Amino acid sequence: MSSKQQRFSSTLQIAAKSRTHTAAPLPPLSALPTKVLLRSLLVSTISSKPLLLGPSLWLMSILSKPNRGWLTNVDRNPILHGILKKTFYEQFCAGETDAETRATIRELKDMGFRGVIMTYAKETVFDHHTNTQQGLGIAALDAKNNDDPLHPRVAHCANIEAWQKGTLETIKQLSDGDYLAMKLTGAGPIVTEAFSKGELPPTQMLDALDEICRRCKERNVRILVDAESHHFLLGMRRTTLDLMRKYNHDGYALIYFTYQAYLKSTPATLERHMAAAQQEGFTLGLKLVRGAYIASDERSLIHDTKQDTDDAYNGIAQGVLKQSFGKFGTETTFPSVNLFLASHNKASVVDAHQLHKQRTAAGLPTVPVGFAQLHGMSDEVSFSLLQLKGVDGTPEVYKCSTWGTMGECLAYLLRRAIENRDAVMRTTDEYNALKAEFGRRIRAAFSFSSS
Ligand SMILES: Cc1cc2nc3c(=O)[nH]c(=O)nc-3n(C[C@H](O)[C@H](O)[C@H](O)COP(=O)(O)OP(=O)(O)OC[C@H]3O[C@@H](n4cnc5c(N)ncnc54)[C@H](O)[C@@H]3O)c2cc1C
Repeated sequence: MSSKQQRFSSTLQIAAKSRTHTAAPLPPLSALPTKVLLRSLLVSTISSKPLLLGPSLWLMSILSKPNRGWLTNVDRNPILHGILKKTFYEQFCAGETDAETRATIRELKDMGFRGVIMTYAKETVFDHHTNTQQGLGIAALDAKNNDDPLHPRVAHCANIEAWQKGTLETIKQLSDGDYLAMKLTGAGPIVTEAFSKGELPPTQMLDALDEICRRCKERNVRILVDAESHHFLLGMRRTTLDLMRKYNHDGYALIYFTYQAYLKSTPATLERHMAAAQQEGFTLGLKLVRGAYIASDERSLIHDTKQDTDDAYNGIAQGVLKQSFGKFGTETTFPSVNLFLASHNKASVVDAHQLHKQRTAAGLPTVPVGFAQLHGMSDEVSFSLLQLKGVDGTPEVYKCSTWGTMGECLAYLLRRAIENRDAVMRTTDEYNALKAEFGRRIRAAFSFSSS
């Protein structure tokens, strides 16, 4: 940044904190540093204009295909890398190195968030339409050690080792009260093969998970296991439930599984898991999302309309907060549950927070709840929640980010771009809110410099 740009940016930063009307409360986005506001405005301009988003999506889907030549390889072509890094990557991801990631975590906590949720980006996405799975940089690693990556001749799998190493590095970046989010498919084809058959992964992976859980417990970092493509869910659920049985015994959830409200089967799955928690005496870690794989998963498994998904999401969230879901809380006692609501839908999260607050104030039964939005998305929702924070420190709001090389983060970035395209109303609202905040700072800067 030139000194002129720096002066402009710091004037806008001071203007961010000044009130346009003496009595009016500051808008939620006033908490956003100017550098972040400008980048968000750029990305949101692209996301809200189909003419700009269409070509960006096309380019990103080409780049996210494995084994690209030099020109379209984001980790090897410095010009492509530089452009993507300063725009989409920095908007949605934490860093390519440990130092970059730590700096982003500090920046997010300085903005007022209770903590961060950090993921290591390596993952495998299964495309139901083509019956293929895609995991950047994954098969190559196993192929180096084994002729057939799915049926290794040696007992040791290099992909699991690389994923474990990346995940253990992530834990070191986190501190007391933060969350580690894990994409289990990042461990490669041997693991995803087991998951797709509904089986537990090999011993090397189970040992890796044990070590990860122990390290997180020592650092008071909790673990959110992401829900991924439906093709892998059965095995992922079995594995995570076993970890809950083992580690969620101290009156709180060290491990959470992610339940996708858009799946028609989710209420039944949840009831089975609640029954296990109640009978076996562990705390169920319940992270609730709507679901991000609508473009690649089998459509018939997903609710027919957005309204049905919304009703399912709100029904589960409100039911659990009232300790009344299915037969639990009526026919039988409600198990110990820790809830985590991950959503950009303002109505869902604000209503859930209000319900939790009312029930706590009235001394009615409820469950502990946290809230999270993705880094670079829905800042207006995150800061609105933060503005509701009371003396008891609730709502606890987190930002969820991803770290890894540009190549490793591409599948994630592509999902975010698709999500912005599909959530037209929300993307437009976000763009308008960012534009309004930028205008407010410009007006405040002028009145500041002329006073
Ligand atoms: C912190 C955080 C962590 C996340 N972790 C995961 C994860 O582990 N696994 C995962 O799958 N997703 C995850 N997501 C993404 C999430 O599933 C949603 O895709 C995303 O948050 C958008 O949904 P929303 O609740 O924010 O609200 P909205 O923007 O109101 O809802 C959009 C969602 O509604 C659903 N939907 C849209 N159109 C239709 C339709 N026609 N029919 C049926 N349903 C429809 C889709 O799920 C879509 O994503 C995470 C999100 C956050 C904020």
